[in-house]
Amino acid sequence: MTSSLANTEKRYLFIKTYGCQMNVYDSNRMTDILTPLGFEITEDLEKADLAIYNTCHIREKASEKLYSDLGRVKPFKKKKIENGKDMLIAVAGCTAQAEGGEVMRRAPYVDMVFGPQSYQNLPEMIARAMREKETRDNPALRGAGILNVDFPTQPKFDDLPEMNKVEGASAFLSIQEGCDKFCHFCVVPYTRGAEYSRPVKSVMDDARRLSDLGVKEVTLLGQNVNAYHGATLDGSGEIPLGQLIQEIAEFDQFEIIRYITSHPNDVTQDLIEAHRDVKKLSPYLHLPVQSGSNRILKAMNRKHTRNEYFKLIDQFRDARPDIAFSSDFIIGFPGESDQDHRDTLDLIRHVGYAQAYSFKYSMRPGTPAASSEFQIEEAVKVQRLSEVQALLDEQKMAFNQKCVGQEMTVLFERKARHEGQLSGRSPYMQSVYVQANERLINQVAPVRIVGCGNNSLTGEVIITDN
Ligand code: SF4
Repeated sequence: MTSSLANTEKRYLFIKTYGCQMNVYDSNRMTDILTPLGFEITEDLEKADLAIYNTCHIREKASEKLYSDLGRVKPFKKKKIENGKDMLIAVAGCTAQAEGGEVMRRAPYVDMVFGPQSYQNLPEMIARAMREKETRDNPALRGAGILNVDFPTQPKFDDLPEMNKVEGASAFLSIQEGCDKFCHFCVVPYTRGAEYSRPVKSVMDDARRLSDLGVKEVTLLGQNVNAYHGATLDGSGEIPLGQLIQEIAEFDQFEIIRYITSHPNDVTQDLIEAHRDVKKLSPYLHLPVQSGSNRILKAMNRKHTRNEYFKLIDQFRDARPDIAFSSDFIIGFPGESDQDHRDTLDLIRHVGYAQAYSFKYSMRPGTPAASSEFQIEEAVKVQRLSEVQALLDEQKMAFNQKCVGQEMTVLFERKARHEGQLSGRSPYMQSVYVQANERLINQVAPVRIVGCGNNSLTGEVIITDN
């Protein structure tokens, strides 16, 4: 870190996060790195000395959104320069990793472009950007030109500062990163690199910190979280996710444990048993299947069949009868026939989801599916997506209705819009609204569900201390 950055002068950091929870986690960790350097978070772009866009590359829309946001920040930077100051603009995350050169070409006023494996080097990159600009006679609107998209051999987790702050009572804990699966539609193996599991010790150290900070709900994060195989405390072997969950559950402070995102091929017996044995583990599993057609699953390189997926669903249901599922679906993957589409609808009917995410297939440059000659017409994709979404919406409503009359534990997060109302989350990730004293915010309490809508539940708190 350079002395120019280690001063106490207040600077403002604007950070915008696109995409998945991994990015939310990464943005929080970037904030942890920058806070000791005098940066304070602002939501006012005009005030920002550093604007970071932490990007997603999973769908085309997400990258286009970045370019439109970069267009919006440019006048603020220009104004700062006219006033004799400057603003550093950084693009981080998966779009940066996948198309860093293109970002710099389309938005040459961007100063730093760096991938998800590099943000531990943020202080050095900022110092370099500042040095680079100080040496110019006329900084104009040209960026500092720092491009950092290497995959370091040293895992980034080793270089991150300790987590020292959390908002509310819920926190993410990243335990695994990267992926070796190479599904034919996905850029993650190219943007996040090879699969890496954090050693148990470093995960447990972070868990202890979160527990000390008062966290009640911890979500274990990873691109392929159930591929987890972290080195044991004594370094003599590795433990899988199910066992790690058992260890994390030992912290009395944690009342709710979740994990995301799983791959069907990495489901192991110990994970199913964790759902049976660990009461704190939410009875809710996001288990993406992407398609209900064996032919398309093969073309996607998913390496499992629909029957194998059904078998897993049954095993989880046997272990934990109140478990509910969500999934991701890609509609209109190259070569998808009407029969493949019907197979997807059939799979959805067979499983019965509490909710699920579905998207039209969009080409990601560099992935095998992008070069397929069997791309599906847009109108067909739109039609199929609307059929899938109608069925998923129907199932979501049916699931919400089934919740009415049940008792569930809810973590209350904030005041809701209506006077005296609080909003929280059910074990199944539904929003739950109750009339209750705001002292319940950041607390977990039992709630009886008395009503539902398409996207939320209403309930009554069963026991409170007020
Ligand atoms: S399992 Fe497939 S979809 Fe998931 S991150 Fe890896 S390559 Fe992407």
